[in-house]
Amino acid sequence: MPSRLSPHNFQDLFDSVEAFLFDCDGVIWKGDKLIDGVSQTLDMLRSAGKKLVFVTNNSLKSRKQYAKKFQSLGISVSEEEIFSSSFSAAMYLKTNDFPSEKKIYVIGGEGILEELQLAGFTGLGGPEDGNKTVQLSQNRFFDHDKSVGAVVVGIDPYINYYKLQYGTLCIRENPGCLFIATNRDAIGHMTALQEWPGAGCMVAAICGSTQKEPIVVGKPSTFMMDFLLQKFNISPSKMCMVGDRLDTDILFGQNAGCKTLLVLSGVTSEPELKDPSNNIQPDYYTGQLSDMLKFLES
Ligand code: PLP
Ligand code: CA
Repeated sequence: MPSRLSPHNFQDLFDSVEAFLFDCDGVIWKGDKLIDGVSQTLDMLRSAGKKLVFVTNNSLKSRKQYAKKFQSLGISVSEEEIFSSSFSAAMYLKTNDFPSEKKIYVIGGEGILEELQLAGFTGLGGPEDGNKTVQLSQNRFFDHDKSVGAVVVGIDPYINYYKLQYGTLCIRENPGCLFIATNRDAIGHMTALQEWPGAGCMVAAICGSTQKEPIVVGKPSTFMMDFLLQKFNISPSKMCMVGDRLDTDILFGQNAGCKTLLVLSGVTSEPELKDPSNNIQPDYYTGQLSDMLKFLES
């Protein structure tokens, strides 16, 4: 059973942790709205010398675009402190020596294309194919680029039958073509007021048509964690993953041996956390991030 965070156990956690990994939506912000007290809490952690890392499964933006989003919310975060699933997709391909002469078809947003380009790869598809349609006349032959060696699927608000056919043909017909999913979140806060279908449903569409399972590079993948650990060179036991979702954030931290803290300001409610059928348990839980400030002051 997880422990409710208190002034006493937070002091122990605070003293034993060198880096805090923060999930973004549900912890830092909700859609485009900053959660109360976040800015002051991050300032406090920084002045105490803690390393801060921000890990988001939302692949719509690149790291550069996320740094701008933080800035627009009045928080100063550098690109190097951000790990988005869009960046992770590009890093997966780079780490695995994906040949730069091969192309990558994207079912997803601008963020993935930008990260691929920054890593020296050629991306196709994405928003550009958002208004393409297909005519299903009997003599129609749908052509695709045979030099596509990977299909990356993330959240795509402009998904259509053209993109599904393009991605499917690449995976089914191009020898060795990789199928990469940025993440499999069921839902996401595309707007502050509501939850919307997440990348999981786009990924499921391609699983359905290809009968293949993707390589997932966002939370809770070990690739993303290993890459991050290597970059920051900190022992997982000195890291605490803070998130609002059990099957992505908490599992991500737990698999690596990090301490884990669930905040109830996002998608998981206290009854859901305490439901006996829930088999992913964080070490600690609390209402929201700014409780940390309250506990240190008390
Ligand atoms: N995917 C989409 C499309 C989203 O809108 C969100 C949250 O808004 C997420 C994933 C989850 O993001 P995070 O990992 O920051 O909670
Ligand atoms: Ca979240």
